[in-house]
Amino acid sequence: MRVEFLGTGGFHPNEKRQTACIMLPEIGLVFDAGTSTFRVAQHIQTESLDLFLTHAHLDHICGLTYLITLPLTGRIKNLRLHGRTEILDAVREHLFADMVFPVAPPFEFHELKDTGELTLPSGDRIEWMKLTHHPGGSTAFKLHLKNHVFAYVTDTTVDHSYKDFVHEADTLVHECYFPDSKKTWADRTGHTHSTPLANLAKDANVGRLIAVHIDPLDESDDPIGIKGMQTIFPNITVAEDGLSLDLI
Ligand SMILES: [Zn+2]
Ligand SMILES: [Zn+2]
Repeated sequence: MRVEFLGTGGFHPNEKRQTACIMLPEIGLVFDAGTSTFRVAQHIQTESLDLFLTHAHLDHICGLTYLITLPLTGRIKNLRLHGRTEILDAVREHLFADMVFPVAPPFEFHELKDTGELTLPSGDRIEWMKLTHHPGGSTAFKLHLKNHVFAYVTDTTVDHSYKDFVHEADTLVHECYFPDSKKTWADRTGHTHSTPLANLAKDANVGRLIAVHIDPLDESDDPIGIKGMQTIFPNITVAEDGLSLDLI
């Protein structure tokens, strides 16, 4: 089972990273729909897509408009959009307002409660919980594959309210917008910085940590100070667009 990191930046695209979208093509699963969502078309392997939104900020939803061509051209039969009710309401009322994007979306909207779980068409189970430390809140997801637990957490400051939720995940994909030197900005904007994330990965005993949602203003090779993080938790990768990993 592969996971494709289509977009690994936060806020706005830069020359190195588009904004959030992660796809597991073999089971037709997509997390978030940022500017990198145009890349979904290259990876389709299923008749239907199930897309789960963490929240409704533009860097996570603007690509929904790009996906409209897939059902309209017959590339996929069904596009199911899952999100908490207030997220889907924001998408319907604002992103798909007549004056913003005047094409009726051929999506099935599936509203999620604040916490819950469901079984995907593939038979795999997905769980979620609402997070409260980002403006408007976000949603953490955990996918139970046959031999692998995959968790995706973005747009939040690190706290221990979701430590149990990600406990012993084989792969934790987590935002790390800022290095420790920008802690003030992280706290002000409801985002993560390096050391608390490394501590979370260690305390939750995850298998490996993949950092995403990187600050688009920093295009250097080491935007979050990985060596310092690795003194706390060694198995860290800072994702770039195009990263493709096996979940085994
Ligand atoms: Zn974001
Ligand atoms: Zn956000």
